[in-house]
Amino acid sequence: MAKEYIEICDTVRKFLSEPIGLYIDGKYVAAQSGKTFVTENPSNRQPIATVAEGAAEDIDLAVQAARRAFDEGPWRNEFTAADRSKAIWRLGELLEEHAEALSQLDALDNGKPVSVTANVDVKYSADHFRYFAGWPTKIEGSVIPVNAPNMLNYTVKEPVGVCGLIVPWNYPLLMAAWKIAPAIAAGNAIVVKPAEQTPLSVLYLGKLFEEAGFPPGVFNVVSGFGGTAGAALVEHAGVNKVGFTGSLEVAQTIVRGSADTLKRVSLELGGKSPNIVFKDADIEKAALGCTWAAFGNNGQSCTAGSRLYVERPIFDEFVAEMSRQTSAISVGPGMSKKQPDLGPVVSREQFDRVSGYIRGAESDGAKVVCGGLAHGSSELEDGYFILPTIVTDVSDDMTIVQEEVFGPVLCILPFDEEGEIIARANNTEFGLAAGLWTNDLSRAHRVGKKLKAGTIWINNWGYTDPASPFGGMKKSGYGREMGKEAIDLYSEVKSIWVQT
Ligand code: NAD
Repeated sequence: MAKEYIEICDTVRKFLSEPIGLYIDGKYVAAQSGKTFVTENPSNRQPIATVAEGAAEDIDLAVQAARRAFDEGPWRNEFTAADRSKAIWRLGELLEEHAEALSQLDALDNGKPVSVTANVDVKYSADHFRYFAGWPTKIEGSVIPVNAPNMLNYTVKEPVGVCGLIVPWNYPLLMAAWKIAPAIAAGNAIVVKPAEQTPLSVLYLGKLFEEAGFPPGVFNVVSGFGGTAGAALVEHAGVNKVGFTGSLEVAQTIVRGSADTLKRVSLELGGKSPNIVFKDADIEKAALGCTWAAFGNNGQSCTAGSRLYVERPIFDEFVAEMSRQTSAISVGPGMSKKQPDLGPVVSREQFDRVSGYIRGAESDGAKVVCGGLAHGSSELEDGYFILPTIVTDVSDDMTIVQEEVFGPVLCILPFDEEGEIIARANNTEFGLAAGLWTNDLSRAHRVGKKLKAGTIWINNWGYTDPASPFGGMKKSGYGREMGKEAIDLYSEVKSIWVQT
């Protein structure tokens, strides 16, 4: 069958035609070392672009630019809250105006279908900026009725200062937007370190910040690797706060690395989120929801519902229905004209990791009900494709049930009663999300209350909204992004006492 691809638009073609610089102090610049790296399209393993490889000296320049913008520049001293609001709103509009370019960049870099990057990544990022555009004029302090005569005590909320924002590759633009929008709404200046696998859309944002009227230095991007650029950002004395989304191991390095300077740190990490189906649920609806809970974004979602527990009387029927729905999911290159449901996994490393988990589960005695590595199609041979995979005949103590795979692999296990399943669902070091499916409303609330996770989805999975707080318990991190909680995450409270 002929391979037909969506044509790359002129804006993207032009952007990718020359080495892409770091974005520092309002300009694209080469790395101080002159080093570059090449990003790869996981759909076909072809190079996409040459990108500047920033390291400690570039982080230093970016932090200095952000410090100037924050300490001396118009951003802090002349921009009113209403001005900030207008600029952020404009940014949201610009994201929409540049949606074709941004969605193609994320589709090339991450591999996911361009229809998904357009309708999810770029659209939700634009919505995010527009939601946070409303906040600058609403960040208020309060007057405290203190127990002291002739004393006025009030609080103000101030920006933390310069924030280092380190983001992963699974939603390259959106995960960055989740941090950038509240950070600038609260009045901070920022340095973003995108993931080395997917730096393009965040680098492209530089142009849009300029067009939206932000002063130079408010927004900086240093592409590069975690151990060099990322670590330098974490350790830099000029950075007041680090916002991080990524793996637990790197988060632990970040907490240690930020100890000397005692930075504020917020962490959005992974999960092994339990999804529970009671026998009174609407089976077809629940199966569809559970399928996309597990395989949406190719399972490369921190909230993937990757541990599915089904009440024993409906177990066989439910697995058969899930298998039917999962086998119908199409997989293919992100820029294919046919627009598949899912693309490849993001990289060779991820491909090896996920296939290793599938092989490991099989050798531990698990049964692969559907999916596995993609074979038999010339389109799929070129990239890092893994079909959505369901495994059964697993037990709670197996690696595949305990560890975050961060790929299209779902374990399904039976359970017998409510008390048992709450304990089993909570038996994990993570606590990012959990879900349950039932038509018994009392049970829904009762069980939902007992599940230990930052988000509970009842008869649905995966809903987020810029207005609703999101984040983890236990080893899924600390701090809440989105909603008013995100403004607090990027603000300090100052208490002022006035003798009257
Ligand atoms: P990762 O931790 O390997 O990398 C994330 C970012 O950290 C990248 O930009 C990387 O360059 C940087 N980094 C790596 N080492 C560093 C160091 N020593 N110092 C500073 N920065 C460093 O994670 P990943 O593989 O890109 O993403 C997958 C993980 O992210 C999964 O565990 C997933 O669950 C999690 N995640 C969580 C959320 C959430 O909101 N909770 C969202 C998306 C992804």
